[in-house]
Amino acid sequence: MKLYNTLTRKIEEFVPYEEGKVKLYTCGPTVYHYAHIGNIRNYIGHDVLDKTLRYLGYDVKRAMNITDVGHLTSDSDSGEDKMEVARKREHKSAMEIAKFYTDAFFDDFKLVNCRMPEVVSPATDNIDEYIRIITTLLDKGYAYLSGGNVYFDTTKLDDYYVLTNHQEDNLVVGAREGVEEDSNKRNQADFVLWFTTSKFENHELLWDSPWGRGYPGWHIECTGISIKYLGEYLDIHGGGVDNIFPHHTNEIAQSEAYLGHKWCRYWFHNEHLLDETGKMSKSTGAILTVSTLKEKGYDPLAFRFMCLNSHYRKQLVFSYDALDQAFSTLKKLRSRISSILREGEVQSHYIASYQNKFKKELEDDLNTANALSVLYEVLKDNQLSGMSKLTLIEDFDQVLSLDLIQEKKSVSNEDFILEQIKRRAEAKKSRDFILADKIRDDLLQQGIRLIDGREGTTYEIIDE
Ligand code: AMP
Ligand code: ZN
Repeated sequence: MKLYNTLTRKIEEFVPYEEGKVKLYTCGPTVYHYAHIGNIRNYIGHDVLDKTLRYLGYDVKRAMNITDVGHLTSDSDSGEDKMEVARKREHKSAMEIAKFYTDAFFDDFKLVNCRMPEVVSPATDNIDEYIRIITTLLDKGYAYLSGGNVYFDTTKLDDYYVLTNHQEDNLVVGAREGVEEDSNKRNQADFVLWFTTSKFENHELLWDSPWGRGYPGWHIECTGISIKYLGEYLDIHGGGVDNIFPHHTNEIAQSEAYLGHKWCRYWFHNEHLLDETGKMSKSTGAILTVSTLKEKGYDPLAFRFMCLNSHYRKQLVFSYDALDQAFSTLKKLRSRISSILREGEVQSHYIASYQNKFKKELEDDLNTANALSVLYEVLKDNQLSGMSKLTLIEDFDQVLSLDLIQEKKSVSNEDFILEQIKRRAEAKKSRDFILADKIRDDLLQQGIRLIDGREGTTYEIIDE
């Protein structure tokens, strides 16, 4: 499989550390507010990666954190902990806020058919792990204590900016949004591993540490959780493009300094979803969520469909017009699929050839739009039996996850069916063929096929 690697800035052949196995890490949400549809686009991108790897036969173990402490309002260690902002806004405890927004996040995550990673771990559950890593970084001379905090010394590395084209100038106060002067830092690019005496007036979540009571920085959380659950060698680490700097840059710095060897081989970044005004933001303005789209009458999978029609490395602009279009196309697609009868032989040769085509598109840096074109080709192919088509659609939907084959309602109520047969016969008698056909099609949608014979109409229940 070919995948764009931010680390090398190239599309590369994916080769995991251990043959056939993939260790995959996804940066999870900061649970101080609802996840907007931009955040969810990012998780759909990761879901496609996760499912594609499985589809290709890899044994995947995936972990994701939940940031419930330590993520400050600016990614460069300035401002206030986002959980504290929420605590003041909502007059609840940090843990109540975290629980509420974690649940809301996973509700939306599941609404767009994202698969739960094997490991989902809140940052607050792994404090010992961060303390252990920070202790080693101090022992090895990569970290220092200053003004009560523990900082990572970025000048101790040959190539701190390995993931980016950023130059240190970008970190000059005022040059980048949200960068404030921190007089405790030896170098502007240094970052906090553990906050103690600064940055927490009335901070609710504090833990004892060898350096005093405090809390972890945001970056150390992902390093700690990844190493704890996925080991010292990671195949793919991902997030949104805004995570490249400083978050992932700092993760690489501290992880490799701690481990003493290369850590993660492939860095996977999803482009943003924009609204018509520009970047979506959780911290400002009204938050548009997947649940809100559902309340407005959209199938959340129409949003997933919209995302799959574009490439994960391209910016996508959200509009209701685009969503309407996606919703209508998805409905047509499903209705077309629902009319396919499960009959004819399973044409293994054709099936394998279409599966290969589908795989090739996904292997090409996750070209989901082209993978969808393969689905349309299957639908159009007159040489394929209904049975073969449905076999392929089911197979592709393991990755697409668009519920392409709608569940048939189980109708065991014989009276209901007989009543519909009677209605249809009456409709035919009065030459209302449109109604007659509609009754037949509605039943078919529910998994009941009518069979017109010499002795009248009978029916059969179509098995899934
Ligand atoms: P957060 O909850 O703010 O930590 O963000 C969760 C994930 O969403 C991060 O990996 C971000 O990179 C990603 N993200 C943030 N904004 C957007 C956006 N507008 N479009 C796509 N992904 C985003
Ligand atoms: Zn992270």
